Amino acid sequence: MPVRCAICGGKAILKRPKTGDALCRECFYYAFEIEIHQTITDAELFTRGETVAVGASGGKDSTVLAYVLKTLNERYDYGIQLILLSVDEGITGYRDDSLETVKRNQQQYDLPLKIVSYEELYGWTMDAIVKQIGLKNNCTFCGVFRRQALDRGAILVKADKIVTGHNADDIAETVLMNVLRGDIARLRRCTAITTGNEGYLPRCKPFKYTYEKEIVMYAYFKKLDYFSTECIYSPNAYRGHARTFLKDLEAVRPSAIIDIIHSGESLSIKRDVKMPTQMTCAQCGYISSNTTCKACVLLEGLNKGLPKLGIGKTNKVRRKMAALSTTTAECDEDTKVGSKNGVQSTEDQPSTDSKKLQF
Ligand code: SF4
Ligand code: ZN
Repeated sequence: MPVRCAICGGKAILKRPKTGDALCRECFYYAFEIEIHQTITDAELFTRGETVAVGASGGKDSTVLAYVLKTLNERYDYGIQLILLSVDEGITGYRDDSLETVKRNQQQYDLPLKIVSYEELYGWTMDAIVKQIGLKNNCTFCGVFRRQALDRGAILVKADKIVTGHNADDIAETVLMNVLRGDIARLRRCTAITTGNEGYLPRCKPFKYTYEKEIVMYAYFKKLDYFSTECIYSPNAYRGHARTFLKDLEAVRPSAIIDIIHSGESLSIKRDVKMPTQMTCAQCGYISSNTTCKACVLLEGLNKGLPKLGIGKTNKVRRKMAALSTTTAECDEDTKVGSKNGVQSTEDQPSTDSKKLQF
């Protein structure tokens, strides 16, 4: 006897990963979309008249996000204007191909597209950075630059906020990683559906409660055009372990993903956690939690041939820095940068997420 759809009683063709319900295709679409609509309205993510930049990488999450937001905006009349915003990190064989997907999505969904590149913003591509620093801290550079690049791009297109495709699995992984590091400040930030209200532009995660498996399933049944290759510079062993652990838990109990997010939300309610103060970078004018932002510190290191500057406070880097400040002071006092103050430990910096700093 055919399995019946739990909603309409028609012929079920799939088992919903999040709930285990047997559903037909149309009811799966409906359940998937209505939950995202619910998340958006419960958290009041959008206000009529806003311009919303969708961080678009060409990957499954951001492609489904753009498609679903367009659908919901039309169906429920949010009254928002959507713009695709992509960051070109300059990774040959990866980002150039995925950007081709975004360009096709632009046509398919009839949305405006803006692409900003590391090369034009910072004078460096990730290919050049990796050539200089190797494959060890590349994601730190990439993550910090991408975060700022998205802000800059969104400001260029006059967006009011940025939405990213972070899904429930990503958030649960980050919760696990922050718990394992004992980092409660980041725990609060990673479970928040909107961050950056105090800064330039708020960032929202409409997929906060959406399972990755369901995003893949939705993209598959809807035949959405997305790019699925991993970045050629992707290492991030720590996240990989958290991911494997989470998938094992999910296999035994699918609600583990949502449960971990809820645990993260409850843990981060602790009020006396010191949060970083938001200020403006003295060099580039973008938001920072220090007098000089992390992007400027990293860039300074790259430009001076000291790429470890800003990655850690090793004695070697300190000695080089001291030598450099003396030399700089001798040749041109006016152009000297307060690099000593700018050296920051990685601990007080935004987390870098190699999979998806990704939008
Ligand atoms: Fe950048 Fe992600 Fe590639 Fe790391 S894995 S280099 S963060 S695109
Ligand atoms: Zn800066």
